[in-house]
Amino acid sequence: MTYSYTQISQYLRCPRSYRYRYLDGWREKDSRAAMVFGRCFETALGAYFLREDPSAVLFKEWGAFRDTPFEYKKADSWDRFVHQGVHLLQKFAQDDRVRIARPKENLQVKMLRTLPENNDFVAYIDALGAVDGTDCLIDWKTTTSRYPEEPEGLLTLDPQLICYSWISGISDVALVVFVRKQLPEIQYLKATISEEQRREFGRLVETTVGRVETAQFPAHSGIRFPQNGCTSCSHLGLCLKRPELIDINLTRRPGASDLDWLDELSG
Ligand code: SF4
Repeated sequence: MTYSYTQISQYLRCPRSYRYRYLDGWREKDSRAAMVFGRCFETALGAYFLREDPSAVLFKEWGAFRDTPFEYKKADSWDRFVHQGVHLLQKFAQDDRVRIARPKENLQVKMLRTLPENNDFVAYIDALGAVDGTDCLIDWKTTTSRYPEEPEGLLTLDPQLICYSWISGISDVALVVFVRKQLPEIQYLKATISEEQRREFGRLVETTVGRVETAQFPAHSGIRFPQNGCTSCSHLGLCLKRPELIDINLTRRPGASDLDWLDELSG
């Protein structure tokens, strides 16, 4: 079995949700505009480093979804997404703070780590490069709200960056956050992950995989702040046995798939 960060974090959030998704095959309908746009935007970023026209690539990629009936939030629309995306790409080029040498090799870098019992763990690192002259691994994010920067050191607790540091052995990590808002903003956040954090994450992966393999899937339900996971869980309809909620949020492809790690590419 091949595991990924998405799987481990879903198990830690709620083991029952993991079972619905990875064993029973209930997947969230891929209809959220922001998520699809994020993938298109990252393809455009790749084009920027390959010295192609990133705005043209964004138009082409996002253009394939022009007539898709997304449920856009509030004032969002297909046009608004593309305008924000183009502004962010222009700002990114003006800032000129990120360098990627040999982009064909150093973008979407696949990393594999062997786990006990014939399992392995796969991750796709968005980029290996330099931010403000410091060599590091880089994760891109598109979002509508800024990432918290205070107190100092907060980013060292980001589990996805710890995971990427663990699988790559690279201590210096950066999160480049593209904030889609009226005045587009890009945050360049940097952190150093310690050897102890990497070891601890490795133990967490092994414990979690052990629980999955011994079929431990208890519900970690929660509806009150701050552990209100059920209220935003796509599997809520299954737990409540409400067919109309299942129909809105989920589609079913029975059985686990060896290709589930592909979720990583959209993470
Ligand atoms: S609704 Fe709650 S208990 Fe059910 S799978 Fe989701 S998070 Fe877990």
